[in-house]
Amino acid sequence: MNKTGTVLLASAVGVLALLVPFSLSMFLAQMQGREDALATLHDITEEVLQRADTARLQINDAISALNNHPAGAPCSTEQLARMGMLSGAFSHVAGMGRLEGDALICTTLGTLDMRVNLGKPDASRQSGMLFWSAVELPGLPGQAFTVVGRDGYAALADADLGLDLLNRNSALSLAFFIGADRQVAGHRGIIRGEWTNRYRDQLIQFEDDGYLVVIRPSRTTDSAALAAMPLSLVAAQVRSSAYVLGPVGLALGVLLTGAVGAVARRRLSLSGELQAAFERNEFFVEYQPIIDLSNGRCVGAEALARWRNEDGVLVSPNVFIPLAEAHGVIGRITARVMEIVVREAAGLLRTNPGVHISINLSPEDLHSHDAQIRMRELAQHADIPPASLMFEITERGLMAPEKARNVLLAVRAGGFRMAIDDFGTGHSNLSYLATYELDFLKIDKMFVDTLGTGAPTSLVTFHIIDLARSLGMQVIAEGVETQAQRAILQARGVQYAQGWLFGRPMSIEELEGFIAQVGPGAPPSSQSI
Ligand code: C2E
Ligand code: MG
Ligand code: MG
Repeated sequence: MNKTGTVLLASAVGVLALLVPFSLSMFLAQMQGREDALATLHDITEEVLQRADTARLQINDAISALNNHPAGAPCSTEQLARMGMLSGAFSHVAGMGRLEGDALICTTLGTLDMRVNLGKPDASRQSGMLFWSAVELPGLPGQAFTVVGRDGYAALADADLGLDLLNRNSALSLAFFIGADRQVAGHRGIIRGEWTNRYRDQLIQFEDDGYLVVIRPSRTTDSAALAAMPLSLVAAQVRSSAYVLGPVGLALGVLLTGAVGAVARRRLSLSGELQAAFERNEFFVEYQPIIDLSNGRCVGAEALARWRNEDGVLVSPNVFIPLAEAHGVIGRITARVMEIVVREAAGLLRTNPGVHISINLSPEDLHSHDAQIRMRELAQHADIPPASLMFEITERGLMAPEKARNVLLAVRAGGFRMAIDDFGTGHSNLSYLATYELDFLKIDKMFVDTLGTGAPTSLVTFHIIDLARSLGMQVIAEGVETQAQRAILQARGVQYAQGWLFGRPMSIEELEGFIAQVGPGAPPSSQSI
């Protein structure tokens, strides 16, 4: 990718890196705010039901106590005194009274002996309990009570019973209702008929007409509690979540954008540095020996490009080769490596015909004849037999065969050797392995690593070895690090290997020393390299 492309891509990714975490945090705030609102409503309904349950038990107990010990004649001073005592004993019972049909004939609250017609009960329970809601008593204007009656006795509870857990100016709505016909026994705020109509004795939550609503059935009776929150209040909860999550999202976005910027700057500066590296002559080559497993001799070496930049930092080829490919300068690197190899290794290759040097080609190098023509000229000039030089082509290089075909045939015709590199890591069409009569198949380190581990992929390694043999290719195992790997490879008939077990990439002088020590491979007439 060129400089403009990198800048454009980095800008786009940078904007996304900022927006995505922020939008995500806003979305999370939305969810969180709604979750919080629902949790509040669930808690409130639970609490209302709990309070109602306590009140119900207390009322029951108070009426039973009075029933068991009436303490004198109906509405007598003694009975009223006992009623007053029981009211004091039960926190949810504000007062007590005596019923005659649908009328209260005396109570411990308000004007004691005035008859109050309650009318038809608002709700009733099978246990015989009757409910009248919003009852006002003479002498206590403006104060409403819920009257619960049974067996001729009445308990008077605050009409707000169970609903007083909210302060009066809360924007929440609450209702407590009783019985199969969902009679509202008490409520606060706006309650819509449609809400209670939706209720089917199961916990429900829904949004309706600007409200978030929860209705919860009691676990012990046929009553239920409803709590509703205006959506404007939910929005406030969302806002407060957003105040927490928003800055986190923003900070993350800024961090990510910074990281994208840093990577882009590094890429841009690396590509600039790469250009300058040619002028400053910062590339050099190291050679990694390739060993004949049958006798331990060195039959060749792979030339590996190295770049020590202006600051003395050694940049890995895994970084600068893809970068050079992306910036269209890989051809210059290939040319530089070939020049260095010919300059440094010509003597070694001339005196050791059983030793070859292999050079890596990128897919781009196979799209023009430049590389192979250059190599031909250089070899001729230095008097190096073409068979002493090998090209390593990756599977990626064979992916556009129509482009590579003529170049590969020319390489073959020029007498150079050819290897397929990193075999098994790409997607090459196997038929091309046969078409170009490649000499070697280099099994990637990834497969060598599986040997002796019992990993199922180690079977793939064996298949690759068999495949190479059936195509008449010789095998070089890459990245051999242990004696165990070497033994398995040798037992499988692999002829050649490269790896730290034998030697790391080294300078040409070190390679010469290495070959002097282990011995060079036999000349081509007596062996296959
Ligand atoms: P490659 O061609 O497969 O080279 C083998 C890589 O494996 C080298 O890494 C080598 O140092 C490493 N290696 C060898 N034996 C062992 C071992 O036993 N253990 C471990 N852990 N590693 C081992 P390097 O030199 O870093 O090169 C990486 C890749 O960069 C090469 O993989 C090749 O694809 C590319 N490359 C290097 N030089 C050139 C070049 O001149 N031109 C092109 N086009 N690509 C190159
Ligand atoms: Mg290679
Ligand atoms: Mg390789």
